[in-house]
Amino acid sequence: MSREWDRISKDERAIIAPYLEHVPVKVASIARELGIEVKSATLRPRISGQIQRSDLSPSGYRIRVNRHETPSRQRFTIAHEIAHYLLHREQIGDGIEDSILYRSTLSDTREAEANRLGAQLLMPEASVIRTLRELGGRPTTEIARIMAERYDVSESAMSIRLGLS
Ligand SMILES: [Zn+2]
Repeated sequence: MSREWDRISKDERAIIAPYLEHVPVKVASIARELGIEVKSATLRPRISGQIQRSDLSPSGYRIRVNRHETPSRQRFTIAHEIAHYLLHREQIGDGIEDSILYRSTLSDTREAEANRLGAQLLMPEASVIRTLRELGGRPTTEIARIMAERYDVSESAMSIRLGLS
């Protein structure tokens, strides 16, 4: 797993790890088990998602995701916002809003961390290696397409994960 994974608390890793055994990974369930409410909503144009304080959520945070984007894109956004919660909780303040390019008021370094951990949650390393082996071992665009479907992520996200782009 990534170095971001090692930065998460042991308790949170224990909650998340079982979900990484089954694909497509149920990211909304991970959020809920961490006590984060997840809602799809109509957000401002060019905003993919946000994480904000919420007194109604057990964790004190809620995620809203742009319901007008594709389901696989929404899954990536949820994973990205979970990553902000896990890695950057102290910096969330009044809320973080992510553009369609996953940029926010946080630094590009923080955004890259959230993208890396988000990708790890949706396409866990051990599972990806196992599936790739099962499909012949060598990543190609065709394999990326098959695996994108299996993991319910976009083809571009899977291509990046497989080192194809
Ligand atoms: Zn972000």
